[in-house]
Amino acid sequence: MAQRMGGQPIFILSEGTQRTRGQDAQESNIAAGKAVAEAVRTTLGPKGMDKMLVSGSGDVVITNDGATILNEMDIEHPAAQMIVEVAETQEDEVGDGTTTAAVLSGQLLLKAQNLLDDDVHPTTIVEGYHEAARIAQDVIGEQTLGEEIDDELLRKVAATSMTGKGTGDVDADTLAEHVVAAVEHVRDGSDVERDDIHIETKVGGSSGATELVEGFILDEERAHENMPRRVEDADVLILDAELEVRETEVDAEFSITSVDQLNAALESEEAGLREYVDAIVEVGADVVFCTDDIDDRVASWLANEGVLAFENVNNTDAKSLAKATGANRVGTLRDLDPADLGFVESVHIEKYGEDELAFVEGGAEAQAVTLLVRGGTEHVVDELERAVEDAVDVVVATVESGEVVPGAGVVEIAIASGVRDAAASIEGRKQLAVEAFADAIEVIPRTLAENTGMDQIDALVDLRAANEDGRAGIIVRGETGEIADPVEYGILDPAAVKREAVESATEAATMIVRIDDVIAAD
Ligand code: ADP
Ligand code: MG
Repeated sequence: MAQRMGGQPIFILSEGTQRTRGQDAQESNIAAGKAVAEAVRTTLGPKGMDKMLVSGSGDVVITNDGATILNEMDIEHPAAQMIVEVAETQEDEVGDGTTTAAVLSGQLLLKAQNLLDDDVHPTTIVEGYHEAARIAQDVIGEQTLGEEIDDELLRKVAATSMTGKGTGDVDADTLAEHVVAAVEHVRDGSDVERDDIHIETKVGGSSGATELVEGFILDEERAHENMPRRVEDADVLILDAELEVRETEVDAEFSITSVDQLNAALESEEAGLREYVDAIVEVGADVVFCTDDIDDRVASWLANEGVLAFENVNNTDAKSLAKATGANRVGTLRDLDPADLGFVESVHIEKYGEDELAFVEGGAEAQAVTLLVRGGTEHVVDELERAVEDAVDVVVATVESGEVVPGAGVVEIAIASGVRDAAASIEGRKQLAVEAFADAIEVIPRTLAENTGMDQIDALVDLRAANEDGRAGIIVRGETGEIADPVEYGILDPAAVKREAVESATEAATMIVRIDDVIAAD
């Protein structure tokens, strides 16, 4: 890459750098962004289809979840990657609405391309989109239902977020009930301790067996089969150290030449292991959660002492256990302090199919709650877990903000109409960009109609008319869709999901439009 100055080329970029400028850069970025959005479009709404994603190593994921699809797709194009980030932000911030956000950004890009073709300057498009997004937020506020946020309403929000997900043979209403109960369990007014809600999955049994457990479930076997299956009023030790012989000790300190020496070595090894057990018993621990290995001999001796222990507990579980029981995680058994122990009312083992699960209930510090999700196969369970995660998130978002809006495309139609009205008083070409935003957001009801098998143009015309002096969305009932009031059918979304979708989609689309130079290193 060279710039000319007085006939001498000046190289400012290393050889092999790819540079695309101006319209070419814009066009290719916009096309890439649109392509990504297009990929998830058919999954939107209750009649949305699923995607099967196969990784290089042959792992298969079947999902309807926008964020998961985009994550698994291994997208390389930098502009396309920004749409993936929209979905990720949406997932992190509110936990639902990822497809909506991605599809909306794609449509904003498509409309932006049309404006660029008509010689509207990128800066004007960016300003117009931001203006329209502000108006959209006002409309969302106006659309917020005045109803009291009670459990019945929360169940509707949860069920809405799960419709169309592969919830197997459990109906969304039963799951929604469990989800709301879980949130109620850890809720204090509008404060929800989201971290105290756990989701545990188990293959085997029908999905109908999904249940709510007041406590934490650890998917680990006991370290030894002679350990107790139930411990009440347990002092809990959480240990981040291995209870094994340190290899180096044996190798370095003994060079074994006789049977006597071998016995001496083994004895000293055992004495070391014994010390672990003594320390645990002495400090008064009844249950040990160890994040590392436990030697079989240690496990067996602990069992003799009536101590229940688990090995190789993962870090996330250890964190949750520490939080629930009030235990401090300790890194060594030297100088154990009883003050580091936590407490639970009970730990008991139950058999689920082939596996054992440990139920940790009545933690001293935090009231953990676990949704135990069961399904026939790994794929079903995974998708159920994602659906339940989304449902928990939307219920939490609703409890925290107290704002609920009608679903099924009503908010998007209202935004389009509100933004169009406002556009009339906006001067110059910016007006075109504001109008383009209004057209773009109608992609949501259009896609809901399309995925339901309705004609999208007819549906849009009918929807606009019906919302002139009423409220109507694309209601999916059985095999067909009809135009009716979603509130009457309990189809409700948290306002926070819509707010975030508008914000993150606008942000990504405007960022892509503003780029006129792509400089890619080799
Ligand atoms: P997202 O990833 O954006 O959440 P979904 O596939 O979950 O995508 O679809 C969400 C949209 O589907 C929301 O606009 C919601 O209001 C709508 N929706 C949910 N249930 C129904 C229903 N029974 N009829 C019509 N629309 C519904
Ligand atoms: Mg959803």
